[in-house]
Amino acid sequence: MDKCLISVYDKDHETLKFLKNFFRGRSEYSAAFFEDVPGLKESLAGGCAIIAGTQGCLDEVAPIARRLPIVAMVEKDLSGGLSRVIDNNIEFYLMAPFHEDDLDYKLKVLRNRQSFSDGLSGKVKDLETIVELVYLMSSTLNPREVLDFMVETLSKSLNVSRCCIIGLTHGEKRYAHVVSSSEIPDLKELRLDLSKYPEIRRANRFGKPVIIKDARKDPMMKSVSGLMKALDIRTIVVIPILYRDEVIGSLFLRTARNARSFTEREIKFCQEIARAAVNPLYNAFLFERLVKEKTRLERLSITDYLTGAYNIRYLYHRMEGEFQRAKRYGCPLSCIMFDIDHFKKINDTYGHKAGDIVLREFAQIVKKEVRKTDVFARYGGEEFVLLLTQTPVSGAMTEASRLSELIRDHSFKALDEKAGITVSMGISTCPDARINSADELITLADDALFKAKHQGRDQIILA
Ligand code: GH3
Ligand code: MG
Ligand code: MG
Repeated sequence: MDKCLISVYDKDHETLKFLKNFFRGRSEYSAAFFEDVPGLKESLAGGCAIIAGTQGCLDEVAPIARRLPIVAMVEKDLSGGLSRVIDNNIEFYLMAPFHEDDLDYKLKVLRNRQSFSDGLSGKVKDLETIVELVYLMSSTLNPREVLDFMVETLSKSLNVSRCCIIGLTHGEKRYAHVVSSSEIPDLKELRLDLSKYPEIRRANRFGKPVIIKDARKDPMMKSVSGLMKALDIRTIVVIPILYRDEVIGSLFLRTARNARSFTEREIKFCQEIARAAVNPLYNAFLFERLVKEKTRLERLSITDYLTGAYNIRYLYHRMEGEFQRAKRYGCPLSCIMFDIDHFKKINDTYGHKAGDIVLREFAQIVKKEVRKTDVFARYGGEEFVLLLTQTPVSGAMTEASRLSELIRDHSFKALDEKAGITVSMGISTCPDARINSADELITLADDALFKAKHQGRDQIILA
């Protein structure tokens, strides 16, 4: 148990002698003697009790006691002293001649009462936090918000420098990720290499809390002692979060070197929070998986399965939008239509499978080269379309030549080293009097491509 700090303010010589003698032999108390009120006032913050004499001292102390219990020493003028005690509403007092046992007993009662009331008000605070948490959980659908609240509340109420909630991916033993942290408010993704966190590994392995009183001295932390020194950490608490017997994460708290350690009540409170964190954490995982799956499906639905370029459905959708935008703002919009020359021969020479691989490689090369705002799509078979936003005919021509060179110079993995491929291209650009719709933009590019083929292939023709 911590020492009980007592402030003494008494002006009577005999009483002071008695008190000094009393405290000299009792290591459970730490008594400070004061001769003036300002000095006493300053020391009251962290104190347990005040002992005041009735020679005017009690009247000075009573208004500044700040809820600390007072023991009055009723000295020479017993009846006058007693009325000071009654006027000031003091519960505990000793009448001269004083007996050590009497003071000892009264201080013990005060101490017990104090620790009981401290414990009680702590518990009330914890309960209030849990009630607030329950309200939040029923009012938000966002599990991250709940986890953030938990972390923020814990770090504030326990006054810890670092507090976070860690998530574990099923089957992943090497890494964990921080889901919510008191240090980084808008955290998106932070991965923890568990080889640097033996305490988290242990909590995960056994599904039981791990409490480390002094990170620099604990044998479990030996492998990371250098890190511990650099991080200025004293106490560590890891409380696993279990969903149906599986550890899905943990509550991870660390205090700074110069801070105090955790009390039993605080650890219990952390365990309550960890229990409440199970569903939000699990839901956060589910939510993330759903979002990922949704993104994957969305991507799949607009992508050509073989080449990874956009599919024709997406091309038409984007063309419509881009055509309208270009028309409204008077910006140029260009369309390049590609067709690989003599592709049939490639299939015949190397086989259809090799042909597939060439198509994919071809698409990857072009995809890597085009701007994010451009749309590169497979139009069908070995034909592709590149839609160039805000690009006049000169820009489209430059881009087409560049891509054409790039493809001609590329050696495809599935083909012989010397064999290469060439493409024919047709370009159309609006504004153009002949183009009144997105469809007509494509048709003109297609016509130009047809000409390129007729004129001997491996060329670029403007509509
Ligand atoms: P050119 O365009 O120069 O006139 O000759 P080409 O041989 O490329 O043209 P054609 O239109 O006659 O033939 C296109 C070939 O592309 C035929 C078809 O088997 C092949 N092809 C179309 N789609 C695929 C595909 O997904 N995979 C493979 N391996 N071949 C495909
Ligand atoms: Mg073709
Ligand atoms: Mg072809």
